[in-house]
This record gives sequence, C-alpha cells and structure tokens, in this order.
Amino acid sequence: MSIKEHILSLNASLPAGVTLVAVSKTYPPEIIMEAYDAGQRVFGENRVQELVAKYEALPKDIQWHLIGHLQTNKVKYIAPFVVLIHSVDSAHLLETIHEQALRNDRVIDVLMEVHVAREVSKHGWQEDELFDYMASGAWKGLSGVRLRGVMGVATFTDEQQVVRAEFERLHEIFLRLKQTYDFGPEFDTLSMGMSGDYPLALDCGSTMVRIGSLIFGARQYQ
Ligand SMILES: *Cc1c(COP(=O)(O)O)cnc(C)c1O
Repeated sequence: MSIKEHILSLNASLPAGVTLVAVSKTYPPEIIMEAYDAGQRVFGENRVQELVAKYEALPKDIQWHLIGHLQTNKVKYIAPFVVLIHSVDSAHLLETIHEQALRNDRVIDVLMEVHVAREVSKHGWQEDELFDYMASGAWKGLSGVRLRGVMGVATFTDEQQVVRAEFERLHEIFLRLKQTYDFGPEFDTLSMGMSGDYPLALDCGSTMVRIGSLIFGARQYQ
C-alpha cells in the first residue's frame, strides 16, 4: 500500500472520535506531503529541531504535535505554533510551557505523560507523583496551558497481556483524573497506541493513536 492508501484506510477504520497522529519523525518533507495530500493534517514529531524545520518547510495548516521528551530550554522554539504537547512529565516543564505560551499570546494544549512501561528508559510521571502534583493544586494558576488528558507508551513486547494491562492502567489514570478534577469536556484525550499496538489501545479506550512506521514504512535512523 502507498502512504496515501495507508492514511485513507486507517482513517476509515478508526472509530469515530479517535484522532490519528501521523508520526513523521525521520521522514523528509516530500514523504510527509504524500500523507498531507491524502488529507492528513495532524502530524507528530519527537525532536524539537526537526519539528521546527518541518513546520517551516511544510504547509501552515498542519497541526503539529510534539510527542517526544521535551527539555525546558527548548520549549521556546515550539511555543509559537505547537498544537499539542503529549509529553509533559514534570511540574517545571508545565510551568515553562505556561510561561512561553503567555509570551506568544497563546494557550497551549498539553497531555500528562505517565510512565507505565517496564523499560526504565521511558519518560513520564510515576502515577503517585502525578497524583501528588495534581493534589497540590500548583497547576491551577497556569493559564497558558490547557490540560487535555493523558499520554503513555506501553512496553515493547509481544506479550499482549502486558501491553493490555498497561493500556488499561493508563485508561484508569485518565478516568480518575477526569473524575477527581473538574476539567470539563476539554479533558478528552487519551493518547496511546502505536503501529504495533494501536488496536489493543483502541480496545482499552484510546482516543488518539500515534502511528508512524505503519504509514511511512520502516524508519532509518542516522
Ligand atoms: C516513534 C513514536 C511513535 C510511532 O511509532 P511507530 O511504531 O512508528 O508507529 C509513537 N509514539 C511515540 C512517543 C514515538 O516516539
């Protein structure tokens, strides 16, 4: 299947209300344009420098999401245009996004990334740290950010029951936050599921899948 066919068939098969983020990291602009020409407008990148370069090179109606780990000193480069930051994993990062959003007269949508995978290398809040932070109320004055939900990455494994348990846990955390804090309908996003595990994620309540290699083919890392 071509990139265009992948985009069309994914969008036709995803349940209503689920957003497809086409993860375009490592792929050059001309490849991304094939997905764009198939109607795709939401793209995800995991590196700030690459995101900025592609933002500049590609059509301005693309909605860019940052899905990878974000260092506080790099927030300023994406604050003028980023549509959703999936990877907020500390109070300091959330405060920095808030400050940079205000500087740009914006409110930036964010997700809290929760660490559920077995791999130690994966980023994100520990569940108890996140709930402690939320209970502190420190986020309430941050008018430059809008908390939209939760994001997570499952363990890279063939063991379906491990992946399912992690997605179920993310779903529970999402619901618990939604019920505990009065966010209103804007707290609507559970970002989980990638090329290898998105059907399982959808089964567990995902509202946003981040799919790269299934659309664009295997990545070549330099
Ligand atoms: C690369 C990446 C994806 C997409 O991975 P694929 O396996 O290519 O679909 C999704 N989420 C995050 C956080 C990523 O870094």
